[in-house]
Amino acid sequence: MSDSRYAFTSKTETLNKYLKLDQKGMIMAEYVWVDANGETRSKSRTLKEAEYKAEDLPVWNFDGSSTEQAPGDNSDVYLRPCAIYPDPFRGSPNIIVLAECWNADGTPNKYNYRHECEKVMEAYADHEPWFGLEQEYTFLDLDDRPFGWPAGGFPAPQGPYYCGVGASKVVMRDIVEAHYKACLFAGIKISGTNAEVMPAQWEYQVGPCDGIEMGDQLWMARFFLARVAEDFGVKVSVHPKPMKGPWNGAGMHTNFSTKEMRAEGGMAHIEAALKNLEPHHMECIKEYGEDNEQRLTGGYETGAIDQFTWGVANRGCSIRIPRETAAKGFGYFEDRRPASNADPYRVTKILMTSIFGKL
Ligand code: ADP
Ligand code: MN
Ligand code: MN
Ligand code: MN
Repeated sequence: MSDSRYAFTSKTETLNKYLKLDQKGMIMAEYVWVDANGETRSKSRTLKEAEYKAEDLPVWNFDGSSTEQAPGDNSDVYLRPCAIYPDPFRGSPNIIVLAECWNADGTPNKYNYRHECEKVMEAYADHEPWFGLEQEYTFLDLDDRPFGWPAGGFPAPQGPYYCGVGASKVVMRDIVEAHYKACLFAGIKISGTNAEVMPAQWEYQVGPCDGIEMGDQLWMARFFLARVAEDFGVKVSVHPKPMKGPWNGAGMHTNFSTKEMRAEGGMAHIEAALKNLEPHHMECIKEYGEDNEQRLTGGYETGAIDQFTWGVANRGCSIRIPRETAAKGFGYFEDRRPASNADPYRVTKILMTSIFGKL
């Protein structure tokens, strides 16, 4: 860390002196939105301390020409609050506000995938769709090299790193731990975390979440991770194949069930859903993230991108039916196709419309 660029990372001890100061009845609200590149951006404003619901919060705006979300001559993009979380960075009573992007003419912004997703979730709410997402990601240094990889060389082949414990097997566990805590504090339904197959790669799971809550919670968890890693001077990559060669890619496995699938005899509903998904395979792939063809090769625990396949406990398929689900005859299935950089609103929406029909 003699690199001078790291001098600009957080000095937590010093910051803590100020975080304790009284806010005199005011709170800080950090508005977060999804940008044109599938990353989060945020800005802060002061509000009066109160019990807020998302619909009571002020609509705000930002300069969309600076984020490639609007042209310079009509640059205002509106931020419509849709969910509120306790702020794990500033602490209570401060809040984080997840917002949708809307154009000045009252149409959803091009990169607002939440709006259509929510309509679909509302239309099919009676099925009580549950999602659980496994977000894989890679820690990079400021030169975009996976953290802990030897300069100018490669680590030993994959094997010891998955769920690994110990120096030379995993790196940056502090970030993983801090992110886990931040999620729990904010009420994110983070269900677990583990070190992944490629060194410097990790995963966390969020879910089960009902309907639109899935996309909201995963975007918030992504924002938290980027924000925590910023404190440590580390970059987070969600590229689906961060390192070419004999290294696992990164996905966002999507576990899915409906009320019918979770009940006695649910297997018939799972099989019917898979039959409906099959003809929509390429349509789904279009929604499942950029550069996913580099990952879905049929190797490294993936199914090939041009085939729709499924199997019990088979990690080389598009869809895996967990062993437990097959044994019980009901439960959920895992769509292994989505890439780590996929937008959860797009993924959960196309799953629903493929299975139940477009609106
Ligand atoms: P894997 O064995 O593929 O690594 P993980 O344990 O990482 O699986 O993730 C499983 C995910 O499935 C979790 O996010 C969990 O919340 C979710 N899940 C569990 N049961 C259901 C269900 N009935 N419907 C949808 N998702 C579920
Ligand atoms: Mn997993
Ligand atoms: Mn995994
Ligand atoms: Mn999985």
